[in-house]
Amino acid sequence: MIKRMNQSLAYMDRAKQVMPGGVTANIKYFEPHPIVMKKGHGAYLTDVDDNEYVDYLLSYGSLMLGHGHPVIKHAIQSQLDTSGTWLFGTPHELEADFGEKLKQYFPSMELLRYTNSGTEATLLALRLAATYTGKHKIAKFEGHYHGGYDQVLLSVDPDVNEAGPAEEPLSVPASKGVGAYHQDHTVILPFNHSYAFELLKHHRDEIGVVVLEPIQSGFIPAQKVFMEELRRLTKDLGIVLLFDEVKTGFRIGMGGAQGYYGIEPDLTALGKVIGAGFPMGVVGGKREILMESAPVKNNATNLSSKGVLFHSGTYNGHPMILAAGLATIQVLENEFDFVVMQTNELKQQLERLFATKGIAMQAIGIGAMFNIVFTEEKVTNYREYQIADFRLRKDLDAHLLKEGIYAKPCNRYSLSTQHGEKEIEKTVTAVTGFLNQM
Ligand code: PLP
Repeated sequence: MIKRMNQSLAYMDRAKQVMPGGVTANIKYFEPHPIVMKKGHGAYLTDVDDNEYVDYLLSYGSLMLGHGHPVIKHAIQSQLDTSGTWLFGTPHELEADFGEKLKQYFPSMELLRYTNSGTEATLLALRLAATYTGKHKIAKFEGHYHGGYDQVLLSVDPDVNEAGPAEEPLSVPASKGVGAYHQDHTVILPFNHSYAFELLKHHRDEIGVVVLEPIQSGFIPAQKVFMEELRRLTKDLGIVLLFDEVKTGFRIGMGGAQGYYGIEPDLTALGKVIGAGFPMGVVGGKREILMESAPVKNNATNLSSKGVLFHSGTYNGHPMILAAGLATIQVLENEFDFVVMQTNELKQQLERLFATKGIAMQAIGIGAMFNIVFTEEKVTNYREYQIADFRLRKDLDAHLLKEGIYAKPCNRYSLSTQHGEKEIEKTVTAVTGFLNQM
């Protein structure tokens, strides 16, 4: 039971004098006020008032090995000891070591490039696709998130009253400052809906790439037939298919969503888990598309440092992060199944608890993450998700927070190798308490 919040409140007052709203990302703000953390260990976070929480946020799913894992600490320390520095600014061996490991699980990535975030990964992927196809419009699905830049910051979480018809959604800015140019150049498709294919056919000469979260928001899966048709049609129409696997890579399966569906995209964006909790992204895919970013000859003898397409970054392929990421994947090679087993156990127990109270609740998701959705209807896209009971979910979240269960309000739950029986039991006890006081 959480008792005190004084230090968190005092900190937020101070932080408001430094950052707008006291936070450095709006997702970190929630009502009545954010909780300020000072320590992490295993599956737990401790706040500045010394309250302890089971962490299901795991930094938006990034920390697949939980907090402070000794293998990651060791990987970072030994990389530092061996090399004597933390940044070369030149090629180094870990770039290929880690890339080979990623290609083992994502064989669709014939070549890859490193970036510093998932946002940068999808951004580079879109530029690669535009260069390769010569077509500069993009298509994305309503309710899908691909990072915080103008091209994709459209129809992420629109008010359904302003978002047009379900089968042909409008392009609605998700932020002030996203202008009409991007609205016009980003076609919004309905997820898991066959009208998406009509829109693609209609815009075939302008759209160079379709980007999607194969599992929308990390919990609403694409239907298999929908995925198969999307793959077939994009190939036919000369449109690049880009899987944004920033959430799903090494979390819904070692081979991500493409492994789960058995479908090869042309391009893949990765982030989160592969960086072990450090800033990191990857774009990989077909050799001929990735080669657009390779250095080119600018005269008979010299290779230019410029590619056909610009891709750069001071910290790309950061050695400390690659060492940590490689170690993460090596641990998951033995422990991934355990995390999925624990996730399934928690989902089943939660569904059983709500069912005994006669409350329609679905724990929706695949692999090591899921969301708690209060509806008995099938949820296959953004519009259908909007009819869930968010009031009840908010009440549940508020109760769980007081009981020391940390998750982002109304957001998905992620588990780590450190979430065992004890943590699940604590969560189930807290949910039982919520149901008993209803
Ligand atoms: N794509 C997806 C599917 C994401 O979930 C996210 C982040 O949540 C991003 C892209 C952006 O990644 P980052 O926050 O590392 O920039």
